Amino acid sequence: MDMDNSRLSEGMKNTLRVVTNAPFHAFKGMKIEDASFLDDIDGRTKCPNCCKSRKFFCYTCYIPMPPLENRIPQIKLPLEVAIVKHPQEIDGKSTATHGPILAPESVEVYSYPNLPDTQKSILVFPSKDAEDLCDFFERTKSENDGIFPFERVIFIDSTWNQTYRICNDPKLSGLPRVKLNGIESLFWRYQRGNPVTHLATIEAIYHVIVLYHKALINPDYEGDYDNLLYFFKYFFNKIRNIYDPKKLKSYATRPYLQE
Ligand SMILES: [Zn+2]
Repeated sequence: MDMDNSRLSEGMKNTLRVVTNAPFHAFKGMKIEDASFLDDIDGRTKCPNCCKSRKFFCYTCYIPMPPLENRIPQIKLPLEVAIVKHPQEIDGKSTATHGPILAPESVEVYSYPNLPDTQKSILVFPSKDAEDLCDFFERTKSENDGIFPFERVIFIDSTWNQTYRICNDPKLSGLPRVKLNGIESLFWRYQRGNPVTHLATIEAIYHVIVLYHKALINPDYEGDYDNLLYFFKYFFNKIRNIYDPKKLKSYATRPYLQE
């Protein structure tokens, strides 16, 4: 992780903040569309595809429910994103679902053992042997005459044990492994034993894409992908309105989120 803060957007500076006593404004400076109309959506509707009853989006079919159609941001990403999830994970709780709904052309979800095409792919995996993402971008760029030779980033959306298993699948085990360093999560769900830098899947996708943009497209990032956090921000604020942030177990190790 490049810790030279002058290259980071306001939002990322906030995310990278270490504990201080100053008021914390998550998402400050980010270009995220207003989601307040979601508050007016009453009850659930039937998913037009699978007929299950859902509120905002179907986490099985990865589509928005009719009241959200044409009203939520649609983002095009500069890299293909593939999310591999364990089939037994509870889809409704994962932020991975936000990816294909907000960036349908760029994000696909695979239920293991189904896997994406792994040609020209890199794997985001927070292991000791994984290379820092910024270092990886710089190195591959200089080794390939300024051209980045990869087209797809693969994320694993699963518990740590399952993630470890999936990453050791022969189709994935040989891929370059990269990790994000020093970015603290804003996730409200308590994840036992996980460090604060363990990001929710949609956060990890967002930060990887932003860092890619800065390293390989334009060092000046103008917020093009901030809407990836559209639902994440909405739920983040919702949770803070419902529960006292001071009592949220997941925030005990992140006092600046308790304000
Ligand atoms: Zn459905």
